[in-house]
Parts: sequence; structure tokens; C-alpha cells
Amino acid sequence: RYQSLAYNRVLEIHKQHLSPVLTAYFSEPLLLHQGHMEWLFDYEGNRYLDFFSGIVTVSVGHCHPKVNAVAQKQLGRLWHTSAVFFHPPIHEYAEKLSALLPEPLKVIFLMNSGSEANDLAMLMARAHSNNTDIISFRGAYHGCSPYTLGLTNVGFHKMELPSGMGCQSTMCPDVFCGPWGGSHCRDSPVQTIRKCSCAPDCCQAKDQYIEQFKDTLNTSVAKSIAGFFAEPIQGVNGVVQYPKGFLKEAFELVRERGGVCIADEVQTGFGRLGSHFWGFQTHGVLPDIVTMAKGIGNGFPMAAVVTTPEIAKSLAKRLLHFNTFGGNPIACAIGSSVLEVIKEENLQENSQEVGTYMLLKFAKLRDEFEIVGDVRGKGLMIGIEMVKDKTSRQPLPREEVNQIHQDCKRMGLLIGRGGTFSQTFRIAPSMCITKPEVDFAVEVFRSAFIQHMESQDK
Ligand code: PMP
Repeated sequence: RYQSLAYNRVLEIHKQHLSPVLTAYFSEPLLLHQGHMEWLFDYEGNRYLDFFSGIVTVSVGHCHPKVNAVAQKQLGRLWHTSAVFFHPPIHEYAEKLSALLPEPLKVIFLMNSGSEANDLAMLMARAHSNNTDIISFRGAYHGCSPYTLGLTNVGFHKMELPSGMGCQSTMCPDVFCGPWGGSHCRDSPVQTIRKCSCAPDCCQAKDQYIEQFKDTLNTSVAKSIAGFFAEPIQGVNGVVQYPKGFLKEAFELVRERGGVCIADEVQTGFGRLGSHFWGFQTHGVLPDIVTMAKGIGNGFPMAAVVTTPEIAKSLAKRLLHFNTFGGNPIACAIGSSVLEVIKEENLQENSQEVGTYMLLKFAKLRDEFEIVGDVRGKGLMIGIEMVKDKTSRQPLPREEVNQIHQDCKRMGLLIGRGGTFSQTFRIAPSMCITKPEVDFAVEVFRSAFIQHMESQDK
């Protein structure tokens, strides 16, 4: 036992002094003591395989030795400086990060969180286009600052107060839940079980969703728009993928109306999707602005907006943008070491190989169990959608999903949740995960599904 505070005392303090909105996943919240790579240890010394990496954040492993060593060295040298002085870690980082982005995405603004990054991207889009309206998908999560809340379209994150002036939502082209399906349409080793009229290379579902998008542009927004935000794969909404080719056409339509295109890479960036370093590359598009956070710092507060020199100039003409902690020496040193580790340890390649292995294993579970409606994703960003049955595709009742979630935890596996009804299990481990660990996770899921079936038969 390692705890400095008794478990019950922790619960009391949490109730009295911490935001009531900070809810725990489990009826008996997990009290963590330590992390090492893909593993977490609770205060009693129990070990858990962390398949959600602190909400898709610990990209290279908890307390990675190289990242730790770099952070400790920088802690002893310089923590902070006002943004009006220079320090080499920021320049080293800017050079490393910009080398990973295609032309003309070469100007970097550093911040501390994804919401801040998307706030700034909204300002940039408006300053550059001289327009107001910004579009995002239903089901999107882009932050919960007053500004980004307008772009976030996950019902339970919305407030009953006017928010997000000029923000409009459009239908999410979700091939599993959306009206037109799309059985060959997504960029994943696993396709949906839904039958549609698509042939492998002919995506009618995509065309239907594009018609919907045009309808939004024609009816719900001003003639000229400021921009369009999209996550390359939706995270909070339950790893939702769009039909191939959708983003490419949508970007063209947005640009025809004077808008800029923003890729929110907060969850999808830094090699997680395996085949490419950035999620936008998997769609064959080039955004005007890219926002990043979470995995960028392996859990250290850090975020960035990368854009073109032209857009950066449009902003600078109208706003003296300032952020006290953005680009501080510790964050930059950590950010550099994260990029080095991804390269040195071939973590993008590992995401591709182990992620594909896992997706195919989970697809077998989907075929075995009626309550597993969909398995989707790419690399190490995977969703398992739980349904009442495969025909109705209605979400499995929350209490039943909760029980499966709880059972996985009991067997030593931590996973995330997503979707409007919290019906999707989200899997996004640190990118150092191995195939034997995947085998373990698959067997844990199998046992939890069998226990669910047995409980229903009683
Ligand atoms: N964008 C996406 C895609 C996210 O998933 C999140 C966080 N869940 C954010 C933005 C906001 O990031 P933060 O919590 O760091 O403000």
C-alpha cells in the first residue's frame, strides 16, 4: 500500500473541494499511484493495462525514461521566461515540429491546451477570411472554452445558454449510424456490417453526405464563411470515421465560400493513426490550420497551432496574440523529446502494425457477439460500439455498458467511453503497446461479453 491519504478521505475531499463535474468512470473510482509506459498502478499496488492513455494523451508511455530525463534536466536549468525573451528549447522545438508538416504549414503558435489552440484557430480563421461563420460536425469535440463550446456538438457538453455566435453544425457523415451507411467507405482495416449499394471504389454514401454538407452551406450559414473544423477521426463521439473522399470535397466547398479548413489533430496526430503522422494525411487533404494538444507533450500541458505565413500575418495585423505559458522551456524540451522517441522507437510503425492486428482481432469478437455492433478505427485509435442487436443498431443500455466497462477494469484493463449514449468503448493506448498485451485485452473483452450474456440469460 502506497497511499498518503486513506481512500475514503480522498473521496470526501473530492466531494467537498473539487469540481462536481469531475466525475469518475467507475462506482469505485480508481486511485492511481504510479505509471510506467503502458501500465498504471493503483494505491494498493494493483496493475492495469492502460488502453486509453489518459484520454489519448500519453503518446509514448507513462513516465517514459527519455522524456523524464529531458524534463528533469530542463527543470534544473530554466522553467520559465516571459515570451519577450528567447530560449533555445522553443527554437529547437519549432524547427523539429515544422519539419514534420508539409508546406506551407510552417508557422507555429504554442499554447497549453487543446481548447486554447482551437480558440486561436477560430480567431485566425475569422481574422484571415473577414467572415464569421464556422462549421463543425455534430458529435465533434473541439474544447469547452466559451468560444470553442460553439464548435463542440456533443449534447452533454452543451450548456443551456447561448454560446458560439456564428458557429453552425452540420451532419456528421457517420457510416455506421448515419442514414446512408457505407459498407466499403471508411479508411479502416475493418468495414461496417451495414449493407449499402457501394462497390469498393464507388462511394454513394459519401455523395449523399456531401449533399447534406452543401445543404448546410446553402441554408444555415452566410454566403461567405470563415472556416470549417474537423477531427480526422472523431474521438469523443466514439471514434467516428467519415467516408473516404468526404473531407477532400468538403474542403473544396468551404474554400469556394472563402473559408479556411482546420484539422483538429488533438487526438489523431503524432503517428497514432499508423499509416501517416497526421490524420489529415489519411484523407489526402492539406488544411490551412492544424491544431494539436494531448499527445504532443505525452501528458505535459502543451498545445500548438500551425498555419501558413499568410494566415499568421492576417492574425498579427489584428491581434497582439499573447500566452504567458505557451512555449515555456519545459514544455518545449518535453515536446522535442516526444518527437525523438516517436522516431527512435518507431512508434508510428508500431501503431500501424499493432493497431491493425488489434482491429482484426476485435472484428472477430464483433462477429461472435450480437451486442458488438461495430469495430472501427485506424492505427491505435479504435472504437467498439455496443448495440442491443446488430439489426436495430440501437445503443446497448448504459447500465449494461457500464457493467462491461467495470468488469474490464476488474480484470486489469482500462478503456475509455464515447458517443452520445456513452455506448462506444474507446481504445487508444500509448503507442508502445505490444501484440501480447493486445491478446490479453481481447480476452478480457471476450470474458466481459460472456459475463454480459450470462447475466442476461438469468
Ligand atoms: N479537440 C479534441 C479533438 C479533443 O479531443 C479535445 C479534448 N478532449 C480538445 C480539442 C480540447 O482539449 P483540452 O481538453 O486540452 O482543452
